[in-house]
Amino acid sequence: MMKKQYLLLIAAGLITFISACKNETAYKTLIITGQNNHNWKASSPVLKQILDATKLFTSEIMITPEKGGDMKTFNPDFSKYKLVVLDYNGDSWSDKTNAAFLEYVKNGGGVVVYHAADNSFPEWKEYNRIIGLGGWGNRNEKDGPYVYYKNNQLVTDTSAGPGGTHGKRREFLVKTRITDHPITKGLPSRWMHGNDELYSLLRGPAENMQVLATAFADSTAGGGTMRDEPMLMVINYEKGRIFHTAMGHADEDGGPAMQCVGFIATLQRGAEWAVTGDVTQPVPNDFPSVAGVVLRPGYTEISLEEVFLKIESYDIAKSTKYLSYLQSYIRNLAGDEKGLLDLEKMMVKVLSGDKATVDAKKLLLRELSWMGSDYSVPAIKNLVQDAELKDEAEYALARLQK
Ligand code: ZN
Repeated sequence: MMKKQYLLLIAAGLITFISACKNETAYKTLIITGQNNHNWKASSPVLKQILDATKLFTSEIMITPEKGGDMKTFNPDFSKYKLVVLDYNGDSWSDKTNAAFLEYVKNGGGVVVYHAADNSFPEWKEYNRIIGLGGWGNRNEKDGPYVYYKNNQLVTDTSAGPGGTHGKRREFLVKTRITDHPITKGLPSRWMHGNDELYSLLRGPAENMQVLATAFADSTAGGGTMRDEPMLMVINYEKGRIFHTAMGHADEDGGPAMQCVGFIATLQRGAEWAVTGDVTQPVPNDFPSVAGVVLRPGYTEISLEEVFLKIESYDIAKSTKYLSYLQSYIRNLAGDEKGLLDLEKMMVKVLSGDKATVDAKKLLLRELSWMGSDYSVPAIKNLVQDAELKDEAEYALARLQK
């Protein structure tokens, strides 16, 4: 008896010890904010939440003095951190802080450059080498070339002109340009991004930089350069790795640009790569496709149960986003027969019940017609009796029984 209790005690101690270790191994992350032409009070907590949700990072937010304040008091000890996230666009830091930041990056510190952080410090040469490309702040040809894709070719354009612009905010398509980088590996080659500013005409040193993804700045959709503009970039600066996302313009509550699963997942993956040079996170099931924008209003991944609840009330006239959730689940299960059968069972349950709308059932029949198995056949046969579903049910049966 004593012995058993003793063993239990050891086991409990071990679990506590392991979880303590796990916490301590999370990458210490510093989010720098406090001045920005953007709503940094909204964006910084969202960045923290997104990163910490992976359990890979434990982030703290450091707020600089206000604009015009004494920047000498801003002295972070960068060496304590594995990752520095820049949500800052404001007054110059002190020479001492600049030097400490460069030392941190040179020695292999990871950096995430987020949205308007690439507007910051136009006069600081080394900072611009770290961010690769920047905009606004009187940037022009003296600061480096424009970089973009034209006719599917990467272009480095030294022509004269201003740096930084964007058209009207809108949803837009993001195109992956390098598919075998750890950050983009396994992502769809094209996906829809939530309503955002499409940063354009960025220019800078662009040394040791790879453009991972672009978006087409269509002039017919509210102003644009008619170029495929860089959205996601990686830069190497001595031993340091930098992930630069031009996306994520913040509204009061973060808003659709930050709620976009594409923004969230690429930020999480980019941050991990910046720290380790690799990415261990799986592509989330709700990652968007070309079918439509997928948002996480609470920034956390939506469960399959929630997806089915939403699909039951699916209305063709409204958003198609829950269809793209489901399609992502199906796509991610490719090759996993048991997983697909479990999903098929959930779909058949909705089809056989009386809660779902006709539109929802049509949608499920369409999906089952190509991913279903013999399991679906009896339930679909029953639906042939339903005048509203007859056509879709017969079509699915024809394909399943081929
Ligand atoms: Zn913005």
